[in-house]
Amino acid sequence: MFFARISRSLAWRLSLWYTLVFSLSTLLAFAFAWLLMSSVLEARAAEDLEEDLEEMALIHDESGPAGVWREAAREIASEGAERGFFRLFGADGALLESTDMAPWEALPETLLSFPGSEPLNRRIENAALEFDLQLASALIAPGLVLQIGESLEENAEFLDVLLLAFGGTLPFLFLGGALLGAFLSRKALAGLEQVTRTAGEIAHGKFDERVPWSDQGEEINRLVATFNGMLDRIELLIRGMREITDNIAHDLRSPLTRIRGEVEAALTSSAPQESRDYEGVLASTIEEADRLIHMINTMLDITETEAGLAPRSFEEVDLSGLVHDAYDLFQPLAAQHAIDFSCDADPELHLRGNASYLQRLLANLVDNALKYTPPGGRVSISLKRIRDKAQIQVADTGIGIPDQEQQRIFSRFYRGDASRSRPGNGLGLCLAQAIARAHWGEIEVVSRRREGSIFTVNLPLRPAD
Ligand code: ADP
Repeated sequence: MFFARISRSLAWRLSLWYTLVFSLSTLLAFAFAWLLMSSVLEARAAEDLEEDLEEMALIHDESGPAGVWREAAREIASEGAERGFFRLFGADGALLESTDMAPWEALPETLLSFPGSEPLNRRIENAALEFDLQLASALIAPGLVLQIGESLEENAEFLDVLLLAFGGTLPFLFLGGALLGAFLSRKALAGLEQVTRTAGEIAHGKFDERVPWSDQGEEINRLVATFNGMLDRIELLIRGMREITDNIAHDLRSPLTRIRGEVEAALTSSAPQESRDYEGVLASTIEEADRLIHMINTMLDITETEAGLAPRSFEEVDLSGLVHDAYDLFQPLAAQHAIDFSCDADPELHLRGNASYLQRLLANLVDNALKYTPPGGRVSISLKRIRDKAQIQVADTGIGIPDQEQQRIFSRFYRGDASRSRPGNGLGLCLAQAIARAHWGEIEVVSRRREGSIFTVNLPLRPAD
């Protein structure tokens, strides 16, 4: 159970892999070093005998066969007969001299027979020998063949010591590797651990919690930054949703309370009621209900538009025609309020878009301009092509918007202080902005109090252009 749980842990798996790879590479490095060493020793043994034979040939040149034999006897005396032997053959293969061969009795006769006058140098592995033997022979003078045998005991012992040293240190290296692996994987995953802990705290409702910043390597740093960024965004969304819910509740409560009050008064009034009085109450109830339905529909439209309008609702839109239509539609209202209303639109400006939504965008801006401009003022609509964009401007000489309100007027339900006395629900500009964005555009406002406002809509003339 414990093992099953621990084996699922990433830290455990990482350190296991690390230990495995570390141990395997150490083992390979040791094996390689050992093989290299043994081949170097082997080559050295062959070279030594080669040199010995050459040296003996020189000694023969100087002091004849007796000199060679003196040297051979001296070497055997100093090294010991079990470490090697010298044998001198005549040209006919007759054995002329031999050092003590007692330790080499077990060697097969074929190896000790006349080797011929061709130079030979090879390693002999034989079951009869405890250690391998390097056997070399050559003609050191006309009619004189010298055979030298040298036990490779020293080499074998050296390699054994090496193996022992390797073998002895390996367990410690494996252990060190495992500890290092565990330490490194824990350190590498500490950042993840922190993210998990914070996510756990957030799951328990601490939305303002963030993963503390500490430099833990680029990958973890990126994860922490992305995670914290996501939390910021979620917190913002939650706050926004809370605000919207508050606003909806607030905006629904007033008309509903009004409706209820009026109906209750009509029902509980002790004075005799005319059917006309009831009709009045019902009419105002319908009016309030219509207002509420309109508000709810606008809210749904905003949500739908913010999520992106369906591409199949897009068509070739004649913007110039749309601007003229809005002008024609609002002219009576402007005349009624004694407002100088004008329109100046470039002809033949088309783009791909949703005509009815663009119409609502325009209507909202013009309706606001007329609503917030006192009699005698001016309102103008213009449409121009500016590079690859269509620019619509709705300008008025109305009450203007204070600087501190300008950023907020595009939020849901926001209504300026000066506009509370006028009809409206604070959703018009929010919908207009959502429509502009659904057409990859933007609305900006420039305004001064008591001087007027200019709302500018920039819409890219996308593929239809
Ligand atoms: P409302 O229904 O209140 O008009 P909007 O979303 O259309 O809602 O506008 C939000 C607020 O922006 C308004 O309450 C008003 O304070 C301000 N506003 C919008 N257009 C104008 C304008 N042309 N002149 C002055 N203030 C404006």
